[in-house]
Amino acid sequence: MLDTAPNRPDLPAEIARRRTFAIISHPDAGKTTLTEKFLLYGGAIQMAGQVRAKGEARRTRSDFMQMEKDRGISVSASAMSFDYNGWRFNLVDTPGHSDFSEDTYRTLTAVDAAIMVIDGAKGVESQTQKLFEVCRLRDLPILTFCNKMDRESRDTFEIIDEIQEMLAIDVTPASWPIGQGRDFIGCYDILRDRLELMDRADRNRVAESIQINGLDDPKLAEHVPAHLLEPFLEEIEMARELLPALDPQSVLEGHMTPIWFGSAINSFGVKELMEGIGAYGPEPQPQRAEPRQISPEETKVSGFVFKVQANMDPKHRDRVAFVRLASGHFTRGMKLTHVRTKKPMAVSNPVLFLASDRELAEEAWAGDIIGIPNHGQLRIGDTLTEGEPIRVTGIPSFAPELLKGIRAADPMKAKHLDKALMQFAEEGAAKVFKPMIGAGYVVGVVGALQFEVLASRIELEYGLPVRFEPSQFTSARWVGGDKTAMDRFINANRQHIAHDHDGDVVYLTRLQWDIDRIERDFPDLTLSATKEMM
Ligand code: GDP
Repeated sequence: MLDTAPNRPDLPAEIARRRTFAIISHPDAGKTTLTEKFLLYGGAIQMAGQVRAKGEARRTRSDFMQMEKDRGISVSASAMSFDYNGWRFNLVDTPGHSDFSEDTYRTLTAVDAAIMVIDGAKGVESQTQKLFEVCRLRDLPILTFCNKMDRESRDTFEIIDEIQEMLAIDVTPASWPIGQGRDFIGCYDILRDRLELMDRADRNRVAESIQINGLDDPKLAEHVPAHLLEPFLEEIEMARELLPALDPQSVLEGHMTPIWFGSAINSFGVKELMEGIGAYGPEPQPQRAEPRQISPEETKVSGFVFKVQANMDPKHRDRVAFVRLASGHFTRGMKLTHVRTKKPMAVSNPVLFLASDRELAEEAWAGDIIGIPNHGQLRIGDTLTEGEPIRVTGIPSFAPELLKGIRAADPMKAKHLDKALMQFAEEGAAKVFKPMIGAGYVVGVVGALQFEVLASRIELEYGLPVRFEPSQFTSARWVGGDKTAMDRFINANRQHIAHDHDGDVVYLTRLQWDIDRIERDFPDLTLSATKEMM
């Protein structure tokens, strides 16, 4: 059953074997642990734990900032590539904290599927739900991993019901747990009629698989104690009656999620999940773009920037644009066209994010994520092609919900602050507005924690302590429309006008009433809470 025919037999094999996905979960559900195990099986690291043991603190490769270490949260997304069973997995890390949802949203534009990790004792939590909604906006296929089954967990049917009810998606069990809490011994692999037993003694050992000929195979009783076997058989019979069977097409359309049960820390269920991603997760998908969509199998290379990360390595003050390749076969040194500026760009030192370290990418295919070091030319939403003026669409920038004034603690350093703020604005870490009247800047974020991250990064990366001040504004709207109406509008509202880092006009206010009034008084203008990045 696992060797389902590829949905796109026409894709070149190198593209068809790629699976580009993200993990979404509520903090603490086990995303980091699962990532480690993926990398372990992908041969990217020698031993689980190494991702964390490296350096002075427990952290994964993607948690590179001081702030993240201190708080134990993953603030920014990065990408990791590894091979497993013939598949090439590209895992794009998403920040789990709700304050970084915009970053997460953009990250999810770069993947073809998501893995939803839930804690077996907690079920669907607030952040799971939010992230799920974001995936739904793009109809991303979702595979579910119910983690921490080695501990006391909720009833299996209850967990499945909760996902179905709260997230409005069909759930089909790919495996079924046997025993619960301390009695949990493993899972029955429904897709392959196999028994998988967990080794509690050795956390890094991959569970042994025992081939079973269906549920009435007497071999089952040899491995499962009688007091667990009976309730298990009852449950699985009920599950088969009540729950839908796996429908690969429905999974690909995002209407159904298969669920695996396991314990990431015990390396249990992870292999099955990986095989599931390979078998049911989609290969690289077509990309929405103007004036036409881009298909992965097109021979010409194209890609788009979904994230920019400044100063990834403090020693090298570099800035890396994360590019998702949308089509073609990229080779190092290729000349691409930067569609926004129409300028050619030789991509001579692209980086592939292998978990152990960054490495020069000699080649990459549609679906892969490469990092392009640059000096600020590449911005979020930019498209690179071999010349055709196509522009990838659908990468939004949201209006900030919190605004504050910002100043350098040392007024002599105001110029440096300008530079730092522009850089972070381009990276998408915060919105930066320069009001028409008065000195200084207003910065806007979606979640309060972003202010702290910003201050800490400006200090760390630019040696510049900053102070936040309350702002008289609470909302920002991008203003669009023809020049005459715009000029009239700006003249009448100078106190409220600012420009963002692209020079676009922004209306700042504290009253929804103001926004309503402008919409009434200036019917030719649009006030928008999102701006598409390009
Ligand atoms: P994240 O915040 O989602 O990245 O979660 P982590 O991977 O950091 O895990 C949160 C905590 O749960 C850590 O203390 C892990 O050791 C623990 N944990 C992860 N997986 C399991 C599991 O399968 N069983 C148990 N009992 N604990 C786990």
